[in-house]
Amino acid sequence: MTNIILLGPPGAGKGTQARRLVEERGMVHLSTGDMLREARTSGTEMGRKVAEVMDRGDLVTDEIVIGLIEEKLAGENARGFIFDGFPRTLAQADALGALLKRSGNRLDAVIEMRVDDEALVERISGRFTCGQCGEVYHDKTRPTKAEGVCDECGSTDLRRRADDNAESLKTRLMEYYKKTSPLIGYYYHAGDLFTVDGLAEIDQVAKAIANVLDQAKSS
Ligand code: AMP
Repeated sequence: MTNIILLGPPGAGKGTQARRLVEERGMVHLSTGDMLREARTSGTEMGRKVAEVMDRGDLVTDEIVIGLIEEKLAGENARGFIFDGFPRTLAQADALGALLKRSGNRLDAVIEMRVDDEALVERISGRFTCGQCGEVYHDKTRPTKAEGVCDECGSTDLRRRADDNAESLKTRLMEYYKKTSPLIGYYYHAGDLFTVDGLAEIDQVAKAIANVLDQAKSS
């Protein structure tokens, strides 16, 4: 069982790569962003508060996201977890370490996907996804073959995220540099950090990640 974290700013391609790993290796994708987007549609007071915070581009409290991950880890018996968008703070990183240890698991690799800010603005501002199967598209670099129809599942439920706009992206990037990027040093010193070039083609990034997984497995 291999457990990995995909670490990188919004738009680095974490979700895209996680989807491939699920398909190719049967791993389980745990995205706190996806869980929170689900929570916000629940119509509860918590959901309403979460929606406000997310739309601004700020981080939701550690307590909420750690609780979500704890619930998922307890309920899944997986061939390996991909943590996407979690941890985002040092407190979350400590909590994840403790949760994995408690269940007799360990972290095998933290994969930093490095991308420069300019590319992120470009990627985020053209991004849309299929609301049914989660396939990710881009206006310029990966449009759907037929306009308004998902290539993968044929759904017409194509969505843009409320926080994929220039204003929220600025806040999300600041949050990343202030609160999440210190995790790079944290995991480097733990001996778990691997870095891949997130600007490369999707297939190339997937190959680089596969190499890391093979390396991590044999170590
Ligand atoms: P993502 O889909 O990972 O880009 O996350 C979208 C938004 O959900 C973020 O901008 C935060 O508001 C919130 N969020 C997701 N994961 C976390 C986390 N681990 N800690 C705090 N907030 C989070």
